[in-house]
Amino acid sequence: MGFKASDGSPNASKEASWSDEELQSTIAAYVEIQEAERVGAAVNKAQTYRLLSAKFERSPGAFERRMQNISAVLDAWNLPWIDGLKPMRNIGANVRPRIAKLLRRAYGELAKNTEAYEAEVLLHLESTPAVAPTGSVSPALTVRTVTTFVRDAAVKAWVLESSKGKCECCGEPAPFQTVDGYPYLEVHHLRTLASGGSDTPSNTLAICPNCHRRLHYGEDAGDLRRRLLQTLPRLIRE
Ligand SMILES: [Zn+2]
Ligand SMILES: [Zn+2]
Repeated sequence: MGFKASDGSPNASKEASWSDEELQSTIAAYVEIQEAERVGAAVNKAQTYRLLSAKFERSPGAFERRMQNISAVLDAWNLPWIDGLKPMRNIGANVRPRIAKLLRRAYGELAKNTEAYEAEVLLHLESTPAVAPTGSVSPALTVRTVTTFVRDAAVKAWVLESSKGKCECCGEPAPFQTVDGYPYLEVHHLRTLASGGSDTPSNTLAICPNCHRRLHYGEDAGDLRRRLLQTLPRLIRE
C-alpha cells in the first residue's frame, strides 16, 4: 500500500492501483487470446494469467478478474468478448475509462492498416484539394501480422466448378479467362469467416469482382445477401 496508481512498479499496492502498464499488458493479452480463439488456435488462459502474474506480482486470479472487467466493457459496447470470461461489472469508477481507452487503442492497432486508411480516404474525399497531392515516391514500409483462416481448397474449387463460369450473383459470364484457362470468378463467404461463418459450400458462392465488391462495400449489400439466400437453394443462412 501507499504507492501511487501511476507508480507501475511491481510492488505497487494491489487492487486499488493498477498501473497503465499492467492494464495495457492485460488488455494486450486479452486481445491476443481473442484473436487466437477467432482463428481456432489453441489458447491457454491459465498460462497467460501466470505469465502476467510473474511479471507484475499480482495473483493470476486478479488478472482473470481484470479480463472479466474487459469483457464487461466490450459487452457494454455490444462487442464480442472471450468465452469463459463472463463480464464482471464491478470495475472501479476510475479504472473503467482507462480500460475503455486502452481497449479502443488496442483494437484500433489491429484494424489500423485497413480501416484507418479508408476512413482517411473518406475525409479527403470530403475536401478534395484543387492540386494533386505529392504522394510519396518511396512509401515507407510497415510490418504487420495478419491473422487469417485456413480455408478448404476443395470447397473453393467445387463452388467455382458448379458456377459453370457464371457469376452466381448477377448471372453474367466471368469477365475474363485466367492464365490457367479458367473463367475468373471470386469466392465469397455469405457470412464472413471473421464473424463466425463456415467454410462450406452452403455459405460460399462464386461471383464476379463487381458483385464481390458490392457485397462487401455496397449500400445495398444487405438486400443482395437476402436475395442470394432466396434464389440460390444451396445457400443456408448462418
Ligand atoms: Zn456478378
Ligand atoms: Zn467476399
